[in-house]
Amino acid sequence: MNILILLFMLLSTNEVIIDSKLTLKEATKGTKAPKEVLDSIVLLDLEYYSFDNKVHKGQILVNKAVEEDVKYIFNLMLKNKMQINKMIPIVKYNWDDDKSMEDNNTSAFNYRFVANTTRLSNHALGRALDINPQLNPVFYSDGKMSPPNGKRDTTKAYTFTADHFVVKELKKRGWRWGGDWTSLKDYHHFDKLD
Ligand SMILES: [Zn+2]
Repeated sequence: MNILILLFMLLSTNEVIIDSKLTLKEATKGTKAPKEVLDSIVLLDLEYYSFDNKVHKGQILVNKAVEEDVKYIFNLMLKNKMQINKMIPIVKYNWDDDKSMEDNNTSAFNYRFVANTTRLSNHALGRALDINPQLNPVFYSDGKMSPPNGKRDTTKAYTFTADHFVVKELKKRGWRWGGDWTSLKDYHHFDKLD
């Protein structure tokens, strides 16, 4: 076999697709977060298995207090080949959570209010994590779904249910899961307050 072909094969098996490669400054550009909040935020480069059956590398902004839990759960999802669509800091969506959800983008930090309220979200401190939001949409008590293009199919491995390994592992580490809430069901949402 030609040595170049062999080299190409070796390289292509280790191929990681880069979905995002921002600096911390670029990833936090335009946020309204005060300095003391920004000082607690870190930018993580993490790998995940995506819908093209390839390993991708994306980025997520989280609070330092939950950094180890987030790294742990991404490593576990990668090992289990649980598909994550993409993970790009929300600055790329002009800090618009609706646009990010519609695009099935996984994210954490966003200095914003809880939808339809003037209460700061746990995302504002980087202590909340939204995974595959379009495939794990929110259902409000009036039956409305968000994002509007959401799809929830509980036969799929990426759909969160009470016995999903991600839900169980995060709860073990003190996280809450939005699927447990009764006022609304936020299936893609996890948070850890302290
Ligand atoms: Zn959320």
